[in-house]
Amino acid sequence: MNMTEPARFRPAAILRGIDRRDAPTAKLVSWRAGGPAARVYQPADLADLVAFLRSLPPEEPVMFAGLGSNLLVRDGGLRGSLVLTHGALSGFAPDPRGDAPAGSLQWVAGAGVPCPKVARQTALHGCEGAEFLAGIPGTLGGALAMNAGCYGGQTWERVVRVTLITRDGQLVERLPGEFEVGYRHVTLRGRARLGRDEWFVEAALRLPRGDGERARARIREFLARRIATQPLQQPNAGSVFRNPPGGHAARLIESCGLKGLQIGGARVSERHANFIVNAGGASAADIEAVIEQVHARVLERTGVDLVREVRIVGERAHG
Ligand SMILES: Cc1cc2nc3c(=O)[nH]c(=O)nc-3n(C[C@H](O)[C@H](O)[C@H](O)COP(=O)(O)OP(=O)(O)OC[C@H]3O[C@@H](n4cnc5c(N)ncnc54)[C@H](O)[C@@H]3O)c2cc1C
Repeated sequence: MNMTEPARFRPAAILRGIDRRDAPTAKLVSWRAGGPAARVYQPADLADLVAFLRSLPPEEPVMFAGLGSNLLVRDGGLRGSLVLTHGALSGFAPDPRGDAPAGSLQWVAGAGVPCPKVARQTALHGCEGAEFLAGIPGTLGGALAMNAGCYGGQTWERVVRVTLITRDGQLVERLPGEFEVGYRHVTLRGRARLGRDEWFVEAALRLPRGDGERARARIREFLARRIATQPLQQPNAGSVFRNPPGGHAARLIESCGLKGLQIGGARVSERHANFIVNAGGASAADIEAVIEQVHARVLERTGVDLVREVRIVGERAHG
């Protein structure tokens, strides 16, 4: 991505991205299921994204997606435009402002950069602290929207500033204090709504200098742990529910005997009870039905009201 200051961007005269109408989304999400989007646009770069947003009628709904690793579009489809950042906002470079305190380094990464790349690249340059991102199969934009985290690390702990794009194509720089950030939960303070009025296009991340070899070893260890505990050979979207305060969603689901519960092609994983896998030919409705069953049965048997972590959008299919 061109790391020119946001204010210098000018909208391109014609759109240069990949533009598809009534496009299936199943291949765009890690569950490999779901309905179409009225329009899917993958911008060529940030200037093209600005031009795209400015070209839309103001009432057209817009949604951003990264790698779809936390997302399901219902079978009836999504109205409006789905903007794909992966492969578009993909710059990764030292922060040109260079105002990192001694003992740390700062990086600017586009919202479309895959999290594992952030982990690998920062380790390669002798930083520690981003290793947890190695096993999160989404983009930095998705990680910012979700405050993705694991193994003791969370995305927003590393954020110095972010640049967002508004619905009418303006670039806005914001500081972490302007967001309310919690466990898998991020909102903008004030009136603008994250994901409706503004979306992330890049972030500056600060990481302590450390031992790159130690960071790489930790990445290998984290990935090995995932391979041992998660059903990575079947399409899934990671943990479906957030862990309840002081508890563990997977253990609760398992304690209710729900491993293996199957509706259509969607099944609660035998390997990790908080994962729902597409065991073959699952529809979005199958996946949602399993989610609803799990939620209802856990509530009934334990009294715990699990909160969904995965995002479900779009319309249910009729008939
Ligand atoms: C095998 C597996 C393991 C996983 N492990 C973890 C884990 O350990 N920890 C964890 O936290 N998550 C985990 N996840 C879930 C997922 O990878 C993360 O939530 C990730 O951050 C989602 O990124 P994405 O690019 O795929 O976002 P998407 O799924 O494409 O989108 C998720 C949400 O973010 C919004 N969004 C995406 N990009 C932007 C943007 N640029 N600006 C504003 N909003 C945006 C979307 O609109 C949507 O609401 C796992 C998933 C899988 C499949």
